[in-house]
Amino acid sequence: MSRIYERVALIGLGLIAGSMARAMQCHGLAGEIVGTARSQETRDTARELGFCDRVTETAAEAVRGADLVVLAVPVGAMGALAREIAPHLAPGATLTDVGSVKGHVVESVGPHVPEGVHFIPAHPMAGTEHSGPESGFAELFENRWCLLVPGDNPDPDALARLRALWQAMGANVEEMEVAHHDLVCAVTSHAPHLIAYTMVGVADDLDRVSDSEVIKFSAAGFRDFTRIAASDPTMWRDVFLTNKDATLEILGRFTEELFALQRAIRTGDGDYLFDYFTRTRAIRRGIIEAGQDTAAPDFGRVPASSGQKAG
Ligand code: NAP
Repeated sequence: MSRIYERVALIGLGLIAGSMARAMQCHGLAGEIVGTARSQETRDTARELGFCDRVTETAAEAVRGADLVVLAVPVGAMGALAREIAPHLAPGATLTDVGSVKGHVVESVGPHVPEGVHFIPAHPMAGTEHSGPESGFAELFENRWCLLVPGDNPDPDALARLRALWQAMGANVEEMEVAHHDLVCAVTSHAPHLIAYTMVGVADDLDRVSDSEVIKFSAAGFRDFTRIAASDPTMWRDVFLTNKDATLEILGRFTEELFALQRAIRTGDGDYLFDYFTRTRAIRRGIIEAGQDTAAPDFGRVPASSGQKAG
């Protein structure tokens, strides 16, 4: 595949930036990949792992001469970072981000973007519960969605190049309006994470009562919650603080449904429960048919002892 950008600067070198760097290296999409992170430890690890051509000590150095700059830090840190790099951005460069919330990024980064720099927020809908520079891998975005939030008047060439980059890294790209993005993500990702955090918290309280039985007999349902609830605390704190309205709206609806299910259980309304679960089962089938998950039993997990990786 051919080069799309001459120099890409990655600010933040965790799961998402590390995966982008590896995918860009793999497909030859950037002439040079420059990276930086907040801590010396992360910068040193990135140097050792070699997924960037160059790792700089500061964000200002990293963005100098870059035709694409990617903010890949927690959402709450983006505004301050944008202010810091703004004077060093090259005219004509594209500034993008990978944050999970878009309204807050547009509000906090937008005002710092200098004239002549194209700001196109983005959100790759791909991730794992792991974080840090070691956790990235080139295939993370394959057959996953990347949502672009270009606003009203994007530069067509800048938009086409960013779209081409995400497609070349394997993603399906769609454009979306900011508020709609944040609501869709509140339903598909943010509220489910909060529910998983809550369920694991409840089990943790119980565990003190039942003397570790929760862990010992951890079955698939609860185990899957624990995977989600192991996600990075800083990232998720920022998601809830910055996507407040949409998340609260969805949690309000969730609570209403929960009460309805509670009532059905109390009154013995089996028809209600059966119909509800039939409807939700169809949604699972739809996700599998759309190629967004495996139909293999237990999410394709194989016993750890077999030495194979889950598909
Ligand atoms: P990550 O693995 O935890 O990496 C975050 C990086 O940001 C680290 O290199 C960290 O540097 C740096 N950083 C943290 N706070 C900073 C600050 N105040 N100033 C400057 N740098 C800072 O995170 P990630 O999973 O790649 O997430 C990055 C972004 O992608 C977030 O906005 C998140 O919402 C979004 N996102 C995540 C996922 C997911 O599932 N993980 C999916 C889609 C989008 P140090 O290591 O030196 O602290």
